Amino acid sequence: MIPFFDLRRTYLEQKEEIDHAVLSTLDSGWYILGKQGQAFEARFKQSLVGDEPGFALGCNSGTDALVLALKASGVGPGDEVITVSHTAIPTITAIQATGGTPVFIDIDPATWLMDLALLERALTKRTKAIVTVHLYGNMVDVPGVKAILARVGREDVSIIEDVAQAQGASIHGQQAGTIGRFGAFSFYPSKNIGALGDGGAVFCRQAEDQEHVRMLRNYGQKDRYYASLSQGVNSRLDEIQAAILSVKLPKLQTWNRRKDQQIEAYRTEFEGLPLRFQQLTPGVTPAWHLCVVALDDGETRDRFMAHLTEAGVQTLIHYPHPTHRQAAFRTENPVSLPETESLASRIVSLPMNAVLASGEQEAVIAAVKSFFR
Ligand SMILES: *Cc1c(COP(=O)(O)O)cnc(C)c1O
Repeated sequence: MIPFFDLRRTYLEQKEEIDHAVLSTLDSGWYILGKQGQAFEARFKQSLVGDEPGFALGCNSGTDALVLALKASGVGPGDEVITVSHTAIPTITAIQATGGTPVFIDIDPATWLMDLALLERALTKRTKAIVTVHLYGNMVDVPGVKAILARVGREDVSIIEDVAQAQGASIHGQQAGTIGRFGAFSFYPSKNIGALGDGGAVFCRQAEDQEHVRMLRNYGQKDRYYASLSQGVNSRLDEIQAAILSVKLPKLQTWNRRKDQQIEAYRTEFEGLPLRFQQLTPGVTPAWHLCVVALDDGETRDRFMAHLTEAGVQTLIHYPHPTHRQAAFRTENPVSLPETESLASRIVSLPMNAVLASGEQEAVIAAVKSFFR
């Protein structure tokens, strides 16, 4: 069986360095909010914006990164947060955790990301934030979102970038997660840079925002044993994960390039087949997290997946159920999102990752071609 993603191989690729980082952290006697966390935050910030001003703060997960960013943007009960339904569940869980209401808009049928033509109409007096989801490694045109907000006089609305799937991507040379007010990153093991456990980070430009997130992630404390802010949580990146992430971060470009080559190979080999790829937003250099293809319809997709399983290739669907249709997020009058619903019924994800062997990719290609023969 060709696995969708064999995480153990990513560990083995850097086993010695990771083991050393873990053991020396164990030996340090300090496990939460210490030198390893600070060192990683500094490296991570540097990787995003170099010496420009900015702050990176570690936290417990990508979900928490979103929660912290939303809370620091002032989102609470009664506030609306515009986003897409075609995303991983945690985008919506995070909005719900603040008491805010997710307002779903449809996706663009080519880029499979938030359709900016629908944004203006979705804004209301209660809109407090927009969560732009950079799904699969492509990016929403965040400068375009900013331009829309400026044109309609709504610069009070915070833009929060969900960068969980696009770490290392850029648009017109600007890194994903550095363009909105906040960038929320995930270091879930399978993401572009994965911890060996949970982890996440928030990036922001303004000192006040940084201060706010720093307090929120640590019970709302400003100084030790004195809570200044309500709504605090416990969400910190532990020292062991931070040390591991410092070992992994320098590999980001190398790993992203390997995936670029795999996507290229798939595109070339599948030319002419009735199977579509996600189109890049103009100006974007992607950082692929998933290789998702769309078939003509749901029935074909299901047969396609069965054929690949038969051929020993593991596939997954990201994601089979649009979030606005799920029990946890359904509202009394569910919106209709035709592009989202159509896409979810037709997509499938092929093995593509930094540790996929070339022989394995060849086998996937052969299995796909044999389906259409
Ligand atoms: C993975 C993911 C998250 C959440 O990250 P966790 O670290 O698992 O909490 C949020 N949004 C998207 C789009 C994701 O893919």
